[in-house]
Parts: sequence; structure tokens; C-alpha cells
Amino acid sequence: SKKLPLYRILQNQGFGTRKGCQLMIEEGDVSVAGAVITKPKAEFDPAGLVFSVFDEEWLYREHLYIALNKPANYECSRKPSHHPGVHTLLPEQFTWREVQPVGRLDHDTTGLLLLSDDGAFIHAQSHPKHHQPKVYVATLAQPADSSLTDQLLAGVQLHDEPAPLAAQVARLIDPLHVEIVIDQGKYHQVKRMLAAAGNHCAALARVQIGGLTLDALGLAEGEWCYLDAEQLAVLN
Ligand code: URA
Repeated sequence: SKKLPLYRILQNQGFGTRKGCQLMIEEGDVSVAGAVITKPKAEFDPAGLVFSVFDEEWLYREHLYIALNKPANYECSRKPSHHPGVHTLLPEQFTWREVQPVGRLDHDTTGLLLLSDDGAFIHAQSHPKHHQPKVYVATLAQPADSSLTDQLLAGVQLHDEPAPLAAQVARLIDPLHVEIVIDQGKYHQVKRMLAAAGNHCAALARVQIGGLTLDALGLAEGEWCYLDAEQLAVLN
């Protein structure tokens, strides 16, 4: 594929402004295949390029597809108001590349969050008609029995919704924990469904999106990873 000047490659990988990237190269902070490159306009094929910036190694990526195990007390919004943003858990370059969450989790919700800089991917994944199943585990404020899961499966009426919303799956793990699968992402949907069913959500974790489970990713809270082609494929 087409060769690009090194400063351009750094720039589109999120390492700063054109000027900033040129300077880093001139100052000897960038190497390719083990050799320091000091000419900003030296050209390289970006496909598969491995380069180092300040001795840290990076693989050129056309787009970023990331999974984060979101801790509580982080906000998904771009301009967070009460807590740090989830982007603070990621390398700075990802913010430069305008990586965004694919749908939002509440500040107090933990677990699997996808992020990307690929607008088409974000759009497709978050489109209401896409019906990507998402699996949540809710901690309940009050012990529940099958009447809770029966209501969630039958559908519960939320105030601002025209029709009742039903869970695809609702299964009690124990009296204080319920697994809920929904394929929409309405505002506070799981919490509001639990409230409408007469309980209260004390804590919420997302454990799976499509065929992608948080367990399989093996991420500790606050950790992230790149998603490979196989992992992306199970997102439908
Ligand atoms: N449902 C909620 O209520 N909150 C979330 O963060 C996700 C789903």
C-alpha cells in the first residue's frame, strides 16, 4: 500500500499535532525497526508498521477497536462532570484519535465497554435496529424470587416508553443477583426495568456484548485490550 511520511503516520496514530510529531522525530524520540529516524519526511508503508515512540512500541492501526473493563465512578461522556472520563484509562493517543464509547454505561455501572474511532462501526453497533444482545448482572436491593424474572420476561412499562420493555433472558443467579439480557440500550434501561418490577438495582455490571464475554477477555477492572478480528466477528 501507499507510503506515508513518518510524521503523518505518527499524527494519524494520535501522537499529536503535525508540528509536535515532526519535533519528536527530529529530536530522536522515534524509531522504526530498531533504527532511530530523524527525518520527519522519511517514508514508510504504514500497513503492519511497528514503530517506537519514547521507547514504547506501537503497531500501526488503521482503526482502534477496544474493550475496557470499566470500573465504577468513571463517566462515558466526552466532557465528564462528576467523575473522570473512561478515556483517562486509555493511552493519550486514543483521545487524540477521538476514540468513543460504543453506547454508554452509567458512571456507577461496571464491566464490558467497547470503544472505537471507527464511525461506521460505532453507528452499526449502537443502531437501535441492530438488536445486539447485552448481558448484565444486577445486584438487587431486595431479595427476589421468580415473580421478578417473570415480570422482566413478560415486559414492564417504563414511564416514557410507548410499550412495555421485556428482557430476552432474566434468570435469578441467587436471591440478590439477576442476569438480564436486553437488546436495546434505552436510558438507564436495566435499572428502570428493575424499579418498574418493584425492586431496586444496587449495582450493575455488563458481562457480555453479542458473543464477546468479559470473562474471555480476562481484563481486570480498569484494564483494556485491542479486539482482534475473531473477537470483532462475534459482535455480529
Ligand atoms: N442499563 C442501565 O440502567 N445502566 C447501564 O449503565 C446500562 C444498562
